[in-house]
Amino acid sequence: MGLLDGKVAFIFGVANHRSIAWGIAKELHNHGATIALSIFNEDMRRRVEPLAEEIGCDFIEPCDVNNDEDIEAVFEKFKERYGHLDVLVHSVAFAPREALGGRFIDIKREDFKLTLESSAYSLVALAKRAEPLMPEGSSIMSMTYYAAEKYIPDYNAMAIAKSALEACTRYMAVDMGHKQIRVNAISAGPIKTLAAAGIPGFRGLLKHFDTVSPLGQTVTVEDVGKTAVYLASDLSRMVTGEIIYVDSGYQVLGLTAPRDEM
Ligand code: NAD
Repeated sequence: MGLLDGKVAFIFGVANHRSIAWGIAKELHNHGATIALSIFNEDMRRRVEPLAEEIGCDFIEPCDVNNDEDIEAVFEKFKERYGHLDVLVHSVAFAPREALGGRFIDIKREDFKLTLESSAYSLVALAKRAEPLMPEGSSIMSMTYYAAEKYIPDYNAMAIAKSALEACTRYMAVDMGHKQIRVNAISAGPIKTLAAAGIPGFRGLLKHFDTVSPLGQTVTVEDVGKTAVYLASDLSRMVTGEIIYVDSGYQVLGLTAPRDEM
């Protein structure tokens, strides 16, 4: 018996085998969930199809999360195929290059808007369309980062988007709570993915992470996936509106020097 037997999960954000969404897909599948995937566009199908095969998933549909028609179409297809949705995973973010690095204050209005729309509003748009398909006990989760709370070099507009995403999580948790739909976010430590490669100072962040963090290790996509299993399952049935850290303990630190230098 798997923890997630009989549950259907719809996961947005697998780009390749390094994606956090892929770690989540594998772990949810390992615990018995049926997995459906949405990719950004058809160009990504070639890379995602072989991964999907590994977990017995043959539902891979494109959706630009900034496009309402795409969202409508992908949920219609999903509904035809599965009828209901138990777990919605939002693992999507985008910022134009100009919105990352340099002086934050130089951000252009259009770049600010696009980053917020792609990385925060998209959660609201997907959840709203998913809601009618979700029975009591369903779970929605998204991926956030510590830059939502504290200054992290170069995150700039993405940091603002993550603050918005976390606030959206709290408001949605209340809106959807009376339907017994839970909404949470996982705050993951830095992981080398395609999205992370777009942050100019990312290598510097990762460099000292394993010597500084309490658990002394970097986080993997499978680590994030295991917490996703908890959030997707009945084990977290009274947990909503939360930001759950999968960060090797980093966020409790007030001083971040390597331990052998303390
Ligand atoms: P990734 O590049 O593998 O995933 C990002 C995904 O967003 C890709 O699949 C991409 O196709 C998708 N995407 C971008 N714009 C889209 C759009 N308009 N419509 C549909 N899909 C779109 O990188 P990742 O690191 O796995 O990122 C997943 C999530 O995890 C993001 O929200 C990211 O901010 C968050 N996160 C990442 C880290 C890290 O260090 N990698 C840490 C904390 C949180």
